Parts: sequence; C-alpha cells; structure tokens
Amino acid sequence: MRKTKVYLVGAGPGSPGLITVRGLEILRQADVVIYDYLVGKGLLDQAKEGAELICCDRLGKKRYADGFFRDQDQISNLLIRKVKEGKKVIRLKNGDPSLFGRCAQELSALVKEKTEFEVVPGVTAASAASAFAGVPLTDRRISSSVVFVTGHEDPKKDKSLIDWGKLSSSSTIVLYMAVGNLSRIVGKLFAAGKPKDTPVVAVSCAGEINQRTVRARLGNIAEIAKKENIAAPAIFIIGPVAEWNKEFNWLKRNKRSLFTGLSRERFFTKSAYFHLPLIKLEPLEDYEEFDNHLKNIKEFDWVVFTSRYGAEYFFKRLNNLGFDTRDLSGIKIAAIGSSTKERLLDFGVRADLVPEQESSRGLFGKLREIPIKGKKIFLPRSDISDKGLGEKLRKIGAKVTASSAYRNVPAKELPDLDLNTFDEIIFTSPSTVRSFRKRYKKVAGNTRIKCIGDVTLKEAEKCRLLD
Ligand code: SAH
Repeated sequence: MRKTKVYLVGAGPGSPGLITVRGLEILRQADVVIYDYLVGKGLLDQAKEGAELICCDRLGKKRYADGFFRDQDQISNLLIRKVKEGKKVIRLKNGDPSLFGRCAQELSALVKEKTEFEVVPGVTAASAASAFAGVPLTDRRISSSVVFVTGHEDPKKDKSLIDWGKLSSSSTIVLYMAVGNLSRIVGKLFAAGKPKDTPVVAVSCAGEINQRTVRARLGNIAEIAKKENIAAPAIFIIGPVAEWNKEFNWLKRNKRSLFTGLSRERFFTKSAYFHLPLIKLEPLEDYEEFDNHLKNIKEFDWVVFTSRYGAEYFFKRLNNLGFDTRDLSGIKIAAIGSSTKERLLDFGVRADLVPEQESSRGLFGKLREIPIKGKKIFLPRSDISDKGLGEKLRKIGAKVTASSAYRNVPAKELPDLDLNTFDEIIFTSPSTVRSFRKRYKKVAGNTRIKCIGDVTLKEAEKCRLLD
C-alpha cells in the first residue's frame, strides 16, 4: 500500500486567502479533508474533485461541553484510520495548529500509532485581528511583549494553569475564546493591577466579511462587547497598542466594496475588497448534447466565448473527448473581454476578436462588422445565460448553435450580513443580482451598485435593486 501521512495544516482564521502556499498545495492534493468548524468554508472549494470532506462540527461544538476527550479521540482515530487506508489526509485546523487547537493531543495519538506527519503553520487569529483592526501587537515605543491567553480552559482541569497576576505585567495581552468568560477575566486583570482605562479592541470574525470591531476600555469592555454583539469567534487585544486602532485601521479608511462574482483576482482595487461569490458553477448532469457539438466542431466558422468559464468547460469537455486545440484549426475565436481572452491563452488559443467594450453589446457590435451572414457560430454558455446575443446574431443571418456547457446555481449557506457596512456592491452577472435579491432582498440606502455589463444592469433594474 502507498505510504501516506497526516498533514496538520493551519488554515488561518475565517478568510480563505490566509492559508499558506504550502498548506494550499496539500489541500489541493488531499484525498480526505478533516476540518475544524471554524475553517473558512470558501477554502474547501480548493479540495480536489471527489475528495472526502469531513467536518468536526458536531465534535467541535461539543468541545465546550462534557466529554470532549472522547470526541478528540474520535478525531485522532479517524486520522489514523484514513491514513491506514492509504489516503492522503489533511487535518485542516483553524488559525495556527499549535495554538489552542489540541495539536499536541493529535500528534501524540499519531506518534503512538507510528503514523508519519507534517505540520504546516498558519496565521493565528491574533495576527489577523491585529491586521484587520489596525492594531500592531507590539510597538517598540510602548509595548515590547505580548501574551496569548485562552479564556476557556479545560473544564476538567482541577486548577487553572493561568497566573493572571504574572501575565498582566505583559504590555499587550491577547485573549482567545473569551467571549463567555469576559467579565470574570476582566475582574482578574483588575485584581492583578491592570488599570481600568487600559485600551481594548475586540474583533469578532476577523478577516471575514462580517467582521465586527469594537473599541473600549478594560473598565467597560464586557458591557460594550455585549451591547455591540461581539460573538465568538472573537479576539480581545488589551494594552496601549489598542489605542492605535483609528490611524491604522485601513478597512475603515477605505471605501468598502463587496464583490459578488466568481473571479478571485478582482481584488486589485482602491477600496477594501470583500469577496462573497453569490453563485456557484457546476458541471451539467448530461453532456450528450454539448459533446455532440464538440465532435462536429470543425463544421463551425466561429466559436464565441461569452465568459472565461465557458472557455474552461469547453476545453475540459474537448479534452475529455480526446481532442485538443489542434482540432480547432481554421476556426475563428471570439472572446467577450480580457479575462476570457487570458483564459483562452492558457489553452493555447489566441482570440481573433475581443471587443473594446467588454459586454455582449460590444461583442455583437464587433461581430456584425465582419460579414457574419451565413456563418456558423458555436456559442458555449451557462444553462441560464441571457439569450440576447444568439438571437441578435441570428437576426443578421448567422447560423447560431447555442449550447449549455455548465450550470450556474445560487450559492448556498450565504452568511447574514450587515449590508449598511458596504459602500459599494459589484454585480458581475444577472445571476449574481438574482441570488442577492433572493438572499438579501434590498441594497441598503447609501450603498452604490456597480453592474458589469449591460445585461447585468438590466437585471438589476428589473429586480428593482436600483430603486
Ligand atoms: N488555532 C487557532 C485558535 C483556535 S481556538 C488560532 O491560531 O487562531 C478558537 C479561538 O480562536 C476563537 O474562540 C477565537 O478566540 C479565535 N478565532 C478563531 N478565528 C477567529 C476569527 N476569524 N476572528 C476572531 N477570532 C478568531
């Protein structure tokens, strides 16, 4: 049997972008992904097709109740069982595996069973809270030490291991898992001599789309955190550095944009960027019709790609049938815009036509300039795309064959959002507009809407998002 091992990988907190390159490599290759309930779900899309995804959710939640040792054993046994089956196993842990995450218990179990392992560090929640709240954890002028403390010790332990008296002398104190016990902890810090006016920043869901940040003083943090709905998972940064929050809080200083499309690389904007894909692409259940067109692809004069995803599925199917780009020789290729054009290059195809105005109207304008009458056009598209382009091309005499290459479905499990916090929402397709309408109903009063493409704009008008 193949020799495999367990990879204990830090996923970083919440936001999927915070995993390391090494961690992502492993995740993409793993056969079995055993993940913590706090791991950002967007990250799981990176697992390979057919990988077994196992959430420790129920086990995770029980951690706060009795008998978690039994549950922890279950996780360790699962790791060992899967690796013995010859599977590549990733144990994906929230934040950094070595901090407050039972890393030692899992490693002990692996060592005992003589199972090989590798540990990949991750961004811990304290670092994320620091970055996303604009509070450096140390500052050589005012704070030269920082301690990380858990606010929730093993309830089965007879005696606390935390010496609040000693650790209160550190200039920065970071509390993990402290929401439930906050008043008690604050009391202990007072007793140990921390002044009531020590600045505190609380950050819940750091790095996530629904992050909340609250500033207070040690004297009133418990009350304010409750009032402002600071819920777990949250980090509390206590000490003089917490005073920095205003100047360095780049999330607050910038315009906040919510991007609802799929492409990940649109983040290079001036604003603070939040990515919430409102749609998901899935393969069709039946490719018979689409594949039949591909088998006769040589009969077409043009293939017109109206999205990069159309290009991806087109080539996936083409390769599946045993063809490749050489079978497209002599066929002209059009791309709706630059990202489709770039994606085509990945498949070794240079588009013959890309309109300057990146929209179906722009594409139609360009296609009509060439003598398209009588030409056979293949239009791979999603199952719900707008039919306008095909119809317009038919009207000017082209012979259009439009065929679904993939399904576009609304994303599930979309989080509750405080929509007021966004200055701008960017919609990339009519389907993102519809999905938004269904889940969130209305855009907040002062939020601007930006639509990419005229068809998207039309849908936003129709759904009355612009009212
Ligand atoms: N190993 C993790 C900590 C796991 S303990 C790490 O290195 O970060 C779980 C605690 O981590 C939570 O109760 C909370 O205090 C903190 N935490 C995890 N994700 C967080 C997030 N996105 N925002 C704020 N705190 C978070």
